[in-house]
Amino acid sequence: MSAGQAALSASPASAAGPGFVEFAEVEKSYDGRTFAVTRMNLSVARGEFLTLLGPSGSGKTTTLNMLAGFERPTHGTITLEGQAVDRLPPYQRNIGMVFQNYALFPHMSVADNVGFPLSVRQVSKADIAARVARALDMVRLKQFSDRRPAQLSGGQQQRVALARALVFEPRLVLMDEPLGALDKKLREHMQLEIKQIHTMLGVTIVYVTHDQSEALTMSDRVAVFNNGGIAQLGSPDDLYNTPQSSFVASFIGENNTLEGVVDRVSGQECRVRLNGGGEITALAVGVTQGSACHVAVRPERLSLSAANGGNSLPATVDGRIYLGDHLRLLARLANDQVLTVKVGPEATMANGETVTVSCAPNDCRAFPADAGTGGAIPKQGK
Ligand code: ADP
Repeated sequence: MSAGQAALSASPASAAGPGFVEFAEVEKSYDGRTFAVTRMNLSVARGEFLTLLGPSGSGKTTTLNMLAGFERPTHGTITLEGQAVDRLPPYQRNIGMVFQNYALFPHMSVADNVGFPLSVRQVSKADIAARVARALDMVRLKQFSDRRPAQLSGGQQQRVALARALVFEPRLVLMDEPLGALDKKLREHMQLEIKQIHTMLGVTIVYVTHDQSEALTMSDRVAVFNNGGIAQLGSPDDLYNTPQSSFVASFIGENNTLEGVVDRVSGQECRVRLNGGGEITALAVGVTQGSACHVAVRPERLSLSAANGGNSLPATVDGRIYLGDHLRLLARLANDQVLTVKVGPEATMANGETVTVSCAPNDCRAFPADAGTGGAIPKQGK
C-alpha cells in the first residue's frame, strides 16, 4: 500500500476540513418522476470504514454507483480528495470495487484475476507477480494462485475479489453486499477478515449492506438510509443508544414500540398516553404536545423488578424463550400489546403470571409517529 494509506491507519475518521469523499446536494432520478436518492449530503473521512445501511430500495446502491461512476447524479456534485469526479469515467477514479456476485473472470486463474487491474494499467510483469503474491498472501490464498474461480468455495472466491480490489492500491474501495451470497458463519468470519484488512491498510471503505449486525460490527460510522436519504449518520454506539427517529430505533437492534399520544412536554421529557391504556414518561425526541408518537424501548432496558425509576405497566407473562445465556419473556399488556423483556436465565416467571414491566424514562424514546419506509419518493409538483 502507499505510504499515504499506511500513515493514516492509526486514526481513521479524524481528518479535519473537507471530507475525503463529499456528496453535496446529490440527487438521482432514473425516470424524471421519482427520486432514488434525494438531497444527499455526506462526508467520508480518509481511512474511514463507512457503511450505507437500509432496507431494499432505499438508495444505497444508487449512492455507491454514483461514487463509482456507474451512474451520474441528476443534481449536485461528488468530490474525491477535493476533485469533482462527475465527469470522470469509473476507470479513471482509482476506486476498487467488490460485488456480491464476485464478478471474477471464470477462464482466468486466481493469480491472473488478481493481476488484471495491474495489467490494464501496464504494470511490468515482474511487478505484477510480486504485487499479486502480496495481495494473495494478505487474503491467505497464496496456495490457490493457479486455480480457476470455479475450483474455489464462495468465501475463497470473495477473497480473490477482495485481493483484486486492493492490488492496485486504490484510494477508495467500494463494497456492495460483498458477503450477501455466503452462509452466516462464513459471513461473520469474512466480516472480521475485511475489518482486519481495513485496519492494516488504512484504506477508505464505503460498504453497502442491509444487515444491521454486519454494519454495527464493521463500521466506524453508519449512514442509515430510508426513502432515498440518510435518516441518521453516526457511530454504531450512537445509532444504538440515541436513535433520532422511530425508523432508526426499529432498524438498529431490537426495540419494543408503544404507540400513544403526547400529553405534555416538559424540558427533555414528555408524558405519553398509550393507546389502549396506561401512561409513561419518555425522552422527547422531536415530539410535540397532542401529536401521535411511537415510544421505543429496548428489551434489555425493560425489567420485571419493582418500578425501575418511574414507568410501570401491569402485564401477564405470555411466553418464555430460553436462549442459554438469557431468557426473553413475552409480556402482554392490558391493551393486548406484547413486549419482549430480556431477563437472566434463572427467571422463574411462568406463563399466565401477573408481572409489572418497568423502565426508566431515560431508556424510553418518544418519536413522532413514522412517515413510513420504502424506496423511491415522488418528486414534488411533478
Ligand atoms: P438499495 O440499494 O437500497 O436496494 P437502490 O439504489 O438499488 O436501493 O434503488 C433505489 C430506487 O431506485 C428503487 O426504487 C429502485 O427501484 C430504483 N432503481 C435502482 N436502479 C434503477 C435503474 N437502473 N433504473 C430505474 N430505477 C432504478
